[in-house]
Amino acid sequence: MTILVIAEHDNKVVAPATLNTVAAAAKIGGDIHVLVAGQGASAVADAAAKIAGVSKVLLADNAAYAHQLPENVAPLVAELGAGYSHILAAATSNGKNILPRVAAQLDVDQISEIISVESADTFKRPIYAGNAIATVQSTAAVKVITVRATGFDPVAAEGGSAAVEAVSAAHDAGTSSFVGEELAKSDRPELTAAKIVVSGGRGMQNGDNFKHLYALADKLGAAVGASRAAVDAGFVPNDMQVGQTGKIVAPQLYIAVGISGAIQHLAGMKDSKVIVAINKDEEAPIFQVADYGLVADLFEAVPELEKLV
Ligand SMILES: Cc1cc2nc3c(=O)[nH]c(=O)nc-3n(C[C@H](O)[C@H](O)[C@H](O)COP(=O)(O)OP(=O)(O)OC[C@H]3O[C@@H](n4cnc5c(N)ncnc54)[C@H](O)[C@@H]3O)c2cc1C
Repeated sequence: MTILVIAEHDNKVVAPATLNTVAAAAKIGGDIHVLVAGQGASAVADAAAKIAGVSKVLLADNAAYAHQLPENVAPLVAELGAGYSHILAAATSNGKNILPRVAAQLDVDQISEIISVESADTFKRPIYAGNAIATVQSTAAVKVITVRATGFDPVAAEGGSAAVEAVSAAHDAGTSSFVGEELAKSDRPELTAAKIVVSGGRGMQNGDNFKHLYALADKLGAAVGASRAAVDAGFVPNDMQVGQTGKIVAPQLYIAVGISGAIQHLAGMKDSKVIVAINKDEEAPIFQVADYGLVADLFEAVPELEKLV
């Protein structure tokens, strides 16, 4: 059994979600190969070769893969992946963009967002916004799987010494082209990789008031997230949204401020190790999942908390 893991990267560094995906592959068992599709991405391949448990790195370095357009990367993965028992990618925007196309091209069903590996062909995945867990058994010849990173502790980034092999196959479907990107820059940790997340909801009232959360987060070394209501109201950008239609996080500590705890928000954070809720409404559903709850006005509680940190 040999498993192909698609590396998540930006042509410079391997994204942490790759380490969680390799962890899922290790649970399946067998040889683990990592595919790096990009341009000028040899540093990524070298880093991938050091990941614990990886036995080979395939480097497809070509202008067609520079921005990892799914129309170009999917045929590459389908071509290479046909010889593998499993193809795994993190359930990130990229992974979710590429793997369904791969599954279609290989004419197999995709298994989405697994959170545990029961055996080489049986996996658990959340359904109904995480309210039920389905156990899925696949008979597909090649199992095409996206991995929910929070379900697997990452393997070590160092310790392996895999060989890097160049792949010459170049697929340029010619159906899409890269126009540009606007990336949010922040000195705070990335939301999905942060050990502590402080999130604000509609109770924050406006974007300016998020300064209270930024101040607390900076003292804690935390990332800042938000509910969809806060995002939809324009308080903060979309990439801060936590939940069913946002990012899935499972930090050591999640502090929900002025968030009611709608089921769609809980779907993105209820696996956090410790949940703290600050809400002035003692009936708010967030208190049902919180380990520690503070019934208080956030505009008093958050600055006080910040002073104590
Ligand atoms: C298909 C679908 C997908 C969705 N996806 C997501 C998703 O990914 N993420 C997400 O978050 N939501 C999502 N939602 C929306 C979700 O249903 C809720 O509407 C949303 O989570 C509510 O956000 P909120 O808790 O910030 O706002 P509210 O529900 O309005 O809660 C605000 C809370 O702030 C408290 N509050 C107000 N003022 C103060 C104060 N001064 N001090 C302390 N507490 C205060 C209130 O008591 C209240 O509990 C989705 C909905 C649908 C239908």
